[in-house]
Amino acid sequence: MIVLIVWDGLRPDMITAERTPFLHSAAGGGAFCEASHAAFPTATRINSASLSTGCYPGRHGIVDNSLYVPAIDPSAAISCADWRALQRMADLEGGRLVTVPTLGETLRACGRRMASAGSGSPGTTYLTNPTLTGPVVNWALAWPASAEEEVARRCGAFLGPESTSMERTEFVLRAVTDYLLPVARPDLLTLWLTEPDHTQHSDGLCAPAALSTLLELDRRLEDLVAALDRLGEHTYLLLSDHGFSTIRERVTPDRALVEAGLKDSLRSTDVIRDGNSIYLNGDARDRLGDLVRTLADQPWIGGLFVRDDHLNACPGAMPQTEVFGSHRRSAELMFAYRWSSEPNKHGVPGSVTGSSRNAATHGSASPYDIHNCLVAWGKGIARGITSAVPCGIVDVAPTALHLMGIGAPDAMQGRVLHELLEGGPPPETVTVRRETQEWDLPASSGTRRQVARYSIVDGHRYLDQVSM
Ligand SMILES: [Zn+2]
Repeated sequence: MIVLIVWDGLRPDMITAERTPFLHSAAGGGAFCEASHAAFPTATRINSASLSTGCYPGRHGIVDNSLYVPAIDPSAAISCADWRALQRMADLEGGRLVTVPTLGETLRACGRRMASAGSGSPGTTYLTNPTLTGPVVNWALAWPASAEEEVARRCGAFLGPESTSMERTEFVLRAVTDYLLPVARPDLLTLWLTEPDHTQHSDGLCAPAALSTLLELDRRLEDLVAALDRLGEHTYLLLSDHGFSTIRERVTPDRALVEAGLKDSLRSTDVIRDGNSIYLNGDARDRLGDLVRTLADQPWIGGLFVRDDHLNACPGAMPQTEVFGSHRRSAELMFAYRWSSEPNKHGVPGSVTGSSRNAATHGSASPYDIHNCLVAWGKGIARGITSAVPCGIVDVAPTALHLMGIGAPDAMQGRVLHELLEGGPPPETVTVRRETQEWDLPASSGTRRQVARYSIVDGHRYLDQVSM
């Protein structure tokens, strides 16, 4: 069995002998990737879809953590945590939520079984197998609904909204051992754990609560792996969906837009801002050039990305395809918050401006948010290697398929991570190219230079960071 485990928001530098002893030792016996990349925007649901499709958001269509669908709600974006809203959007468009073949569909076509569990939002869990080619269990519900009675009989009652993230994690761990493994007998299992994301958001990186959550997760992981190993020999890939940064400075983007005269009022629908996206309605589309020029001068802006079919409105701007976005669902303008390497009070580097009241967050084009975890061990994985070869969350699906002897569908953008596999090339022999691209962005004060850095392996390009 291939076991894909996600620890939401785990930074690679959090894996140490003290903080995560079991994971650290598993990584030491297998393969540890030093240069894995999440998809931008570095938020959860976007990367859940990248894991399940092997594609970037410009292809899979989950282009932000919230999506603006006027036919559902003309006044606000829908949250991708809400799986019903996601499916309603897909139904309006003809049925397909992610606009490429999924890992689950590829496995089913080859007669293999996939099962999924997740302790994050129902939307995040749903996106791990959005066409439900196998059973999917979340703490609040299961798909198909006909499975819920049996899940509850074996694992206890589903949880309510008052449940804690650790209760949710315990529930889905029981769902794996007591329901999915014996009933679904999967060839590939995905298990998405919502921590340490929650605790890092509320308390900050390496805060006492975050460290105790890491230790708790590590103990649960050790127990799970022991239980799975009693059943046979497996391949484990443990990853995160994004990194994390400390919030140094708080901004209110909507207020800034109103004060600059670019949005009529905080409640107006001419300009809808949610997550990293700024959607323009009606006549406000004519303001795209003004928006770019004004935002380029804001001290909290770290990147601006214009939907490719609107570039003629702002010559010189960076197209969304260069951050692997630009889908028909994309906002006319996307932005990233400004970042720096400044450490927090616990000495953890990486800070951003941000709009939330949390201690820490993610979503930017900073290397601290972009660099996610990827660790592999077990059957078919090289032993005791540390790889500095750039790789990413989009590579997990093609690599998992390869380990099962299945070719990746043409639409998948990731590559097979041969350098992590038994018999593969040693990582230090893999050729890596670096590329820098610059855009002179029109700004009210003149021009602002926006710089994107990439790493390239075998024709696959990874976004390392954007700064301005
Ligand atoms: Zn996340």
